[in-house]
Amino acid sequence: MINLVLFGPPGAGKGTQSEKLIKKYGFVHISTGDLFRWHTKNDTPLGQQVKEIMNSGALVPDEITIAMLKEELDKNPDAKGFLFDGFPRTVAQAEALDQFMKNNHTAIHFIIALDVEEKEVRQRIAKRRAIENRPDDEDDKLNKRITEYFSKTIHVLPYYEKQGRLNTVKGVGNIDDIFTSITAIIDRKEAQV
Ligand code: ADP
Repeated sequence: MINLVLFGPPGAGKGTQSEKLIKKYGFVHISTGDLFRWHTKNDTPLGQQVKEIMNSGALVPDEITIAMLKEELDKNPDAKGFLFDGFPRTVAQAEALDQFMKNNHTAIHFIIALDVEEKEVRQRIAKRRAIENRPDDEDDKLNKRITEYFSKTIHVLPYYEKQGRLNTVKGVGNIDDIFTSITAIIDRKEAQV
């Protein structure tokens, strides 16, 4: 089995595609956004620590995020394959993830980046806001999330590209067509691993 990262800006469709990928391949899904939301909803000590940061749209510090991720990986020692969604968001997180995988005698085999323009992402989140009511979807917080993406997270792409692990998929159009493009990459890579 393979381990991969689904990458893209807020509103790129990572959550939607992850759901379909899990059904098809049985990956263990690790979404750091969902994990942080779970902690804030359940008012855990970690939730209390990150609530304000998240609601402002800023990235949670690497130290906290990496520790949470490690705990999550340790809970799943028998996983056949991981799908990481919303992690890594900084180069330090990408390096930590490679190290964790190496310690477990495996690797992040590749990443799939959903390519969606900023204008499209803003339109999608404006629509989602009407349905989901996420506190960090409000305008000023969304601006912060988009700034965080283009100032910090985008640098994760060359990290994987240099090592030949980057695959890009156009993230605009029909959801099923995007899914087909993603599965084509996974099936091709799986045959090589
Ligand atoms: P989106 O991709 O729509 O911005 P997520 O649900 O993935 O949202 O994440 C929501 C928030 O959780 C982020 O804005 C950030 O505060 C925090 N977060 C999630 N993943 C990470 C991460 N890997 N590093 C730092 N902060 C994170």
